[in-house]
This record gives sequence, C-alpha cells and structure tokens, in this order.
Amino acid sequence: MMTSLSNPLLIIVSAPSGAGKTTLCDRLLEDCDNIVYSVSVTTREPRGLEMDGEDYIFVTADGFATRVKEDAFLEHAVVHGFKYGTLRSTVEEAMAEGQSVLMDIDVAGARQIRESLEALPVSDPMRIGFVDLFVAPPSVEALRERLVNRGEDEPDIIERRVVNAEQEMACSGEYMHVVINDDLDRAYDELCMMLKARGEMVGRGET
Ligand code: 5GP
Repeated sequence: MMTSLSNPLLIIVSAPSGAGKTTLCDRLLEDCDNIVYSVSVTTREPRGLEMDGEDYIFVTADGFATRVKEDAFLEHAVVHGFKYGTLRSTVEEAMAEGQSVLMDIDVAGARQIRESLEALPVSDPMRIGFVDLFVAPPSVEALRERLVNRGEDEPDIIERRVVNAEQEMACSGEYMHVVINDDLDRAYDELCMMLKARGEMVGRGET
C-alpha cells in the first residue's frame, strides 16, 4: 500500500504482546523503503530464529550497564524482567539522513522519549516528526486466545502477559493514535493512513 513516507517521522509503536504489533511493523517495513527499524539492545536471550544485530543486539547485564553509563540510550526500560534500550545513534543517524525510524518499544520507553523530545528545540527533526501509536487487541479475552493459540508460552506466562497487557492498555490514552487490531488488513490500512497524514502535516510545518 505504502511505498515511502513524504517526510521523516520518528514512529513509536507500542502494544501488549499478542496484539499483532510485530506483524504490522514487519509489513510496514516491507512496504516502505525509507523507514529504518531501530534495533534495540536487550539482556534477554535470543528466541527461536532471532538474529543478533537484526532482531535485537543481545548483551549481558554488564554490557547493558556500560551503555547506560556511556549515555548511549535514548530510552531504556525493564520489560518482563529484562532490560531493553533504544540506541541514540541509530535514531539520530537515520533521521539525519532523512529516513524515518520505527521503534517498537513499551509504554515506559515511549514516555521517556516524549519527555526527552520536550527538551529539544522545536525545530529538531525528531520532535517535528514524532508520532506514537498504540496497537490494542479488540479485547483482553481475544488477546488471551491469541496467546494460547500462538503456543509459545506456558499458561502462567500467558496469565502474566495478560495482566501486563491490561496495565499497558490503561496507558493507551497517552498515545496520539490507538489502532484496534480486530482485523489485520484493516488495522494495517489505518496505521498507514495515520502515518501518511502525519507525514503530510510535518511537510506543512504543523506539529
Ligand atoms: P520481546 O522480548 O517480546 O521482543 O519484547 C518485549 C517488549 O519489550 C515489547 O513490548 C517491546 O515493545 C519492548 N521493547 C523492545 N525493545 C525495546 C526498547 O528498546 N525499549 C523499550 N522501552 N521497550 C522495548
């Protein structure tokens, strides 16, 4: 549907696990040639076919602490017991080249980014191009069903993810847009429409 964004955006997408965020983000990256995915640093172990440097940069707790000390992160947070952080260099370099950046981060990380953008000059490209979206499942029950059908987690982990999801969904009002993923194609079209509209607003100098 979408082939490029007219103006560089700093896109945050947050969602509870199982809401379909990864599928929506992968599709966007496939369809759009000028969006760079911000590969996060994490202390969790790789899962399945995940590749170091592609899905995440997998580091030890010490490796993560060193990066915190060096102020390498734009934001960092603990999610489901592991540390995750967005590298400042990834975002700044991509935006300096006029590319959009897609960040798949949790609600605490999104909050930190909003706060740090407020401290930047209003003319900063990151501030101008900022847009955040929350992808929500149609209901908590639907989410539980998806997690069960996915078959990746034990029942106690699923229950923990559902409790976390309810807490995250309570924060959805902090986002500029909420996309209900009741149908993948519909939700994707809505996501693209919002990004296109945001790109046009940025182009007109509106914030
Ligand atoms: P997973 O381990 O299942 O890939 O991701 C767990 C959660 O961590 C997801 O909600 C994801 O959005 C979040 N996450 C991934 N990378 C980052 C990051 O760099 N910063 C923050 N704050 N959250 C992240």
